[in-house]
Amino acid sequence: AKTHPTKNYLFYMSSMTEHLLTISKFDNDLKHAIENDEFILHYQPQINLHSNAIIGMEALVRWQHPVKGLLSPYNFIARAEETRLIIPLGLFIFKKALEQAKRWQDENFFNGIIAINISNVQIEEEDFIEQIEAIRQKIEVSALSIELEVTESSFMNNPMQSSKTLQKLENLGYKISIDDFGTGYSSLSYLKQLPLHKLKIDRSFIRDLPRDRDDQAISKAIIALGKTLELEVLAEGVETEEQKAFLIDNGCDSMQGFLFAKPMSAEALESFLHQN
Ligand code: C2E
Ligand code: CA
Ligand code: CA
Ligand code: CA
Repeated sequence: AKTHPTKNYLFYMSSMTEHLLTISKFDNDLKHAIENDEFILHYQPQINLHSNAIIGMEALVRWQHPVKGLLSPYNFIARAEETRLIIPLGLFIFKKALEQAKRWQDENFFNGIIAINISNVQIEEEDFIEQIEAIRQKIEVSALSIELEVTESSFMNNPMQSSKTLQKLENLGYKISIDDFGTGYSSLSYLKQLPLHKLKIDRSFIRDLPRDRDDQAISKAIIALGKTLELEVLAEGVETEEQKAFLIDNGCDSMQGFLFAKPMSAEALESFLHQN
């Protein structure tokens, strides 16, 4: 039977409005959460596969929601990007991570790299570098100990501008890594042109190692590519000894994953590492 167009339209409208209302309440919550200091950072160690030393700590944000509890970034980062609230949130994350790095350096607990996820929206923001540099200089952490994790899609919208931004960051001493490597749509030619330090093999290619033949081929190819281009290669989401052994056998440099440690609060991580 033919449906009535007006009726459908009205139905569509009312469900749209409902949707918009939920979204705007969420946006408001998100905005207040930034003001109310409801975001916390967890940290996950990155391990050198040859020495087993901790080379880095990746900062991963969580929202300590007053009603919903601890929220994963999957619940709010995408929306924060759409609304551009990721700009203030991203600066807050950068500041928190540097303050933590500074404390760990002062206590001589950890002197390695602090890795911070940076959204495309931040990279494309005109005064991104000025803003993070102001924070960095105030906290007095060397750019040499900061790694910015960006995704392949960061170069897709405006390759010229983003490559300039990355070049400036590199000149200032920051390290740049490509997160979720292998899942984007970028051509490989940019790898030569951009000032990169590290490729992070996406977790989806690690999960079914060493069993899955396709994943074997893909992870080996990424490791070989990294070697040729003189980039460090880190495997994400390593959960088993078998995965780790496969990565060592195939020349991967470093790993991150539940096998060594889950992301934890700074305090939890400190006691975890003291016990081990
Ligand atoms: P990502 O940057 O790829 O981070 C790795 C994610 O994998 C983290 O999820 C981490 O908890 C999880 N993970 C680590 N090891 C394992 C493992 O062995 N097995 C499994 N199954 N998972 C593992 P998380 O913390 O929920 O973060 C999800 C995503 O949210 C991140 O993916 C990143 O894209 C984004 N994100 C997190 N923190 C930030 C941030 O501060 N800023 C921005 N812009 N994005 C962030
Ligand atoms: Ca990351
Ligand atoms: Ca990743
Ligand atoms: Ca990922």
